[in-house]
Amino acid sequence: MDLVIEGRIFVNNSFEQCCIGIENGKIVEIKKILQGDEKLSYGNKIILPAGIDIHVHFRDPGMTHKEDFSTGSMAAAFGGVTCVFDMPNTIPQTTNVQTLADKVLLAEKKSFVDFGIYSGITNSNINNIESLSKNCSGFKIYLGTSTNSLKFNKVNLREALQQISKTEKSVLFHAEDDELLTKNKTIENDITDHLKARPSICEETSIKDILYASQKLNLKLHICHLSSLEGLEILKTRSHNISCGVTPHHILLSAEKNMGSQTFYKVNPPIRSSFDKESLFNAARNGIIDVIESDHAPHKKEEKDTDFNEAPSGLPGVETMFPLFLFLAKKEKISFQRVISLLCGRPAEILDIPKGKIGIGKDADLIVVDLKDETKIKSDNLHSKCGWTPFEDWPAIFPSDVFIRGEKLIEDSAIQVKQGFGKFVGA
Ligand SMILES: [Zn+2]
Repeated sequence: MDLVIEGRIFVNNSFEQCCIGIENGKIVEIKKILQGDEKLSYGNKIILPAGIDIHVHFRDPGMTHKEDFSTGSMAAAFGGVTCVFDMPNTIPQTTNVQTLADKVLLAEKKSFVDFGIYSGITNSNINNIESLSKNCSGFKIYLGTSTNSLKFNKVNLREALQQISKTEKSVLFHAEDDELLTKNKTIENDITDHLKARPSICEETSIKDILYASQKLNLKLHICHLSSLEGLEILKTRSHNISCGVTPHHILLSAEKNMGSQTFYKVNPPIRSSFDKESLFNAARNGIIDVIESDHAPHKKEEKDTDFNEAPSGLPGVETMFPLFLFLAKKEKISFQRVISLLCGRPAEILDIPKGKIGIGKDADLIVVDLKDETKIKSDNLHSKCGWTPFEDWPAIFPSDVFIRGEKLIEDSAIQVKQGFGKFVGA
C-alpha cells in the first residue's frame, strides 16, 4: 500500500474512525486498521470526498485577463474541488474538434486539478455531434442569450437531442427562453430591473421545451442553475435521467434593494426573491435537487463596476462553494450527507467519472477538514484572478489538506503539485 490515511472518514453515508488504503492514486481498501509505506493520521479531523464542480468558466482561451486555467484551477484546489468541467463560451468558442483539442492541450499544461471540457452545440454543428462526442466530456446548449453565450435556436432542439442520444454523453442546459427574454428586454438600472427583464416564466417555458423535446430519447440531461420556484415545480416530477443543479448564489442570496454595489450580483439567470431562494435551498436539502454547481464566471472588478445596464453578468464561486456548505453542514442547516451528494456523488454520476465517493476503485480525491477552522471569506485570501467575491465576510470552513489521485494537492496553505498535474476526464 502506497499511502494510508486515517481519520473520521465519511464512508457509507456516515462518519467512521477508520483508514483508507491508496495504491496508484486509487482507493483500494477501507478498514479499521491499515498499514502502508506512508501513513497520515488526522485524528479527529473529518475526511470527505473532494468536490466536483460541473460548471465553471475559466475564460481560457481568449479572456485570460479575467481568469485562466492556472488561476481558476488553483482557486478550485484551495476550495476542496479536485475536478472541474469548463464551459464552451470562451474565445474561440469550444464548438468544433480543433478548438476542443486546443483547450484540452492548454488545460493539460496549466491545470492543477482534473478537468472536463464541454462542447457547445450551436445551430451549425448539430451534424458533427458524433465526432465532437469523442473529444469532449459532455455538451452544453444555451437556450437563452447570456453574456458571451452561444447562439442556439430552439427549433433545432429535437434534432440536436436525437443526435446526442446516439452518443454516451450528457447534455447540460442554460434554460431561459430567448424569445421571452427579447420580449422583456428593457434598460436596466438595478437588480430589480434585471429581474423584470428575465422573469421566471423564461426559465419555466424553457424547461418545458427541454422536457418535451427529450421525450422517448435515451439521454442524460442536466438543467443548470435552477433559479425559480416555478422551474422547480416542473422538475419535481421529472424522470430519473434528468438532473438539475443550483448555484450557491441562487440558494444563499436574494435580490434586495440594499444589496450594495448591485452590478456585482448581476448574473443569469438572475438572483431572485427570498421566497425562490428558500424554496430552492429546501429542495437541495430534501434531495429534489441533484447538484450544487458554482457557475464560476469571473469578471474583473473594473468591468463589473460600471453602469448597471452595461455591466457583464456572472460572478465567481469555485473556491467558496464547498467551504460555505461545510459551514452550513456544521451548523446543521443541511446534512453532511446531502452536501456530499450535491457536491461530490451526483456530479460524478452525471458526468460518469470515478470520483466523488470514498469507495473501493474510486480516485483518492479527498479533503481533510477541521470543523473548528471557522473563518470569514476574504477576497484577499482567494485565488481567482478577478479579486472579489459575492460572499465577502460570509462564514466558511476551508479544508486544511486536499488530495488528488492520492497526491497532496494542498497542504500548509500551499499548492503541492506542479501546474499541469490535472488530467482530462470524461472523454
Ligand atoms: Zn454558466
